Amino acid sequence: MSKKVPDAQKNKNLVLGKDVSSDPKTKLIHRIEVVRELCIGATTCVVVSPQAFEMDDDSIAVVKENGEKISDDELLMAAQSCPTAAIILYDKDGNKIFPKDN
Ligand code: SF4
Repeated sequence: MSKKVPDAQKNKNLVLGKDVSSDPKTKLIHRIEVVRELCIGATTCVVVSPQAFEMDDDSIAVVKENGEKISDDELLMAAQSCPTAAIILYDKDGNKIFPKDN
């Protein structure tokens, strides 16, 4: 019988390959960008992380103030939930950590 791996754990292994956390000392995600041209207003990101994202008057997702301080797990899930990959996550040095370039 296979052991069930929680989705958040899978995310860590498959996407970042590093520990993800909301601890400021170990937090990886420091900047979030929503590519407005890609956003189709599906609101999935808002459902997954309502403290980080909201919809603007044009029905495009925007990052709320201090949204980048939400836990890495939740932000990663929100970015992964976006059907058009409109959410880009960056580390403290400005390197893109999601989505991964192939
Ligand atoms: S999930 Fe993606 S497409 Fe949907 S509102 Fe958020 S950024 Fe826009």
